[in-house]
Amino acid sequence: MMIAVSPPSLDTSEYLPNEAMLKIVVASAHEAQHGWATVPLRYRAKVLQAIAQAIRDHAEALAKRIEDETGKSMSDALTSDVAIAAGSFRQAAELGLRCLKPQGYPLSQSWRALALGRSHQTLYSPKGVVAAITPWNYPIGIPAWAIAASLMTGNACILKPSELSPESGKALVALVQEVLENHGYSKNLVICVTGDGSVGRALLDEPVDHVLFTGSVGTGRAIQAQLAGRNIGLSLELGGSCPALILPSLDKAYWDSVISQITWGRCFNAGQSCAAIKRLLLPNAGKEEWLERLAATFNAIAQPLVLINHTQRQRLHQQVVQALAEGATLVCRGTFNESSPTPVYPPTLITNLPPQSHLWQEEWFGPVLLVDGFDTVAEAIEKANNTSFGLTASVFGPQAEAEKMAQKLQAGLVTVNDVALAHYGFLHVPWQGVKNSGPGISHSTEGLLALVTAKTMGINTLPTWIKPPWLLQKSAMQSSQSSGHPFQHGLIRWMSHSFWRAQWNPALLKGLWQQRPRTRL
Ligand code: NAD
Repeated sequence: MMIAVSPPSLDTSEYLPNEAMLKIVVASAHEAQHGWATVPLRYRAKVLQAIAQAIRDHAEALAKRIEDETGKSMSDALTSDVAIAAGSFRQAAELGLRCLKPQGYPLSQSWRALALGRSHQTLYSPKGVVAAITPWNYPIGIPAWAIAASLMTGNACILKPSELSPESGKALVALVQEVLENHGYSKNLVICVTGDGSVGRALLDEPVDHVLFTGSVGTGRAIQAQLAGRNIGLSLELGGSCPALILPSLDKAYWDSVISQITWGRCFNAGQSCAAIKRLLLPNAGKEEWLERLAATFNAIAQPLVLINHTQRQRLHQQVVQALAEGATLVCRGTFNESSPTPVYPPTLITNLPPQSHLWQEEWFGPVLLVDGFDTVAEAIEKANNTSFGLTASVFGPQAEAEKMAQKLQAGLVTVNDVALAHYGFLHVPWQGVKNSGPGISHSTEGLLALVTAKTMGINTLPTWIKPPWLLQKSAMQSSQSSGHPFQHGLIRWMSHSFWRAQWNPALLKGLWQQRPRTRL
């Protein structure tokens, strides 16, 4: 196993030859984190803002690195990786300033009366060292949030990028380290270790405190099994088979715009997105016209869609071949050249895949859209939910009707009249999956709070000579009374009513009065 540790600048690399180095890497991250945990939020936010600026300054270089390594176009790399990366650092800083400071619990007037001078405050502490294991399809966008969230919450982060995109991960970490050092902090707060799955596995055997994993369901389950019995946090962001649904009532005037959105949602990043639209559900009445128009848009895509490698391309092609063998219809597919030197795949539309085909349950990672029809809205919902995944869903139709349908879909994010994939860029809202697509949350305050431990302090603000009310009642040990319990019934009444009704509470007052003189500690 070869482990490489991130270089101090964008253009050098330093390979460290043995597994034992991981112990040193994790120990260095822990040491650096102890100091960082004490840095006030506003200084952490300042460093994150500076990292966002550094990403902006190096935008072209970072995008070029991604293009060289993954075949992603410069424009896709700039949008989905570099912009998301810069936004992640800025958003984590802004959200963190709000949600990571000690949180109080303002009470309504009726509860304030019951709190009897007590106040509570929750404090957040970093967990320690976060291990982030990430995939190749967004080789900077996904690691960026993991690093930004770790730093803002006072943690250190060890990034293990995919073995298919190590240089992109290293370039991001090199930039972050440079900014950290320029601000007088240890570069060991963010370290990149590269290698294949065995390095990821070995990293998780070390004393890390939280694992952020993004990748396939199979690897996610393997990590879950590896960590079973260890009391550390695990966030899983896994695959998807995201549906888009067109309501029968969608006005024809919007069809063109919806078709453009669906084409983008399927083909962006050459279709290699967890949240890409992988299944399209259309009303049977009108299905032929939809297919015709969709095919025209798919065929008009001029830019060649380059997949990550030939293995991925072959896997996708095998799925298409098998679907056709099972009786599916090929609606459109541009020229497919089996012996193409670059792993391109043409945008492809498939329909009439038999409902019992297990291909419906697989993740299709490339620009192939499966189209199915429905007669009723109930059937559409059933088909949309008929998957073990639950990442996103997109519904198109009149707003009220589409919102009603959205509520019935099993997904971590559902969008109405928008492609859900685009909402990955809204970094202030949670990104999460249900069923086999989760569980884990990134982005948003929830994504930050997943990386801290919470401690609540309860403080009695009244002078200590005032006895708390729970000493003014007879406990079971002091009382032989088996019925009556005026104090307890008064308390229940007070707890269950608003202040204005509860304050006229003769039972409670009578109970307190009767018991007070005889009560002893
Ligand atoms: P993958 O599971 O093969 O690999 C992901 C990472 O895990 C890589 O860094 C890999 O080296 C590492 N790894 C592999 N085996 C490991 C092990 N046993 N222990 C620890 N680490 C191990 O996934 P991939 O092919 O790189 O990525 C594509 C998948 O990621 C797709 O399923 C896609 O849907 C999913 N994905 C999900 C999201 C999301 O937000 N939910 C985002 C992007 C990608």
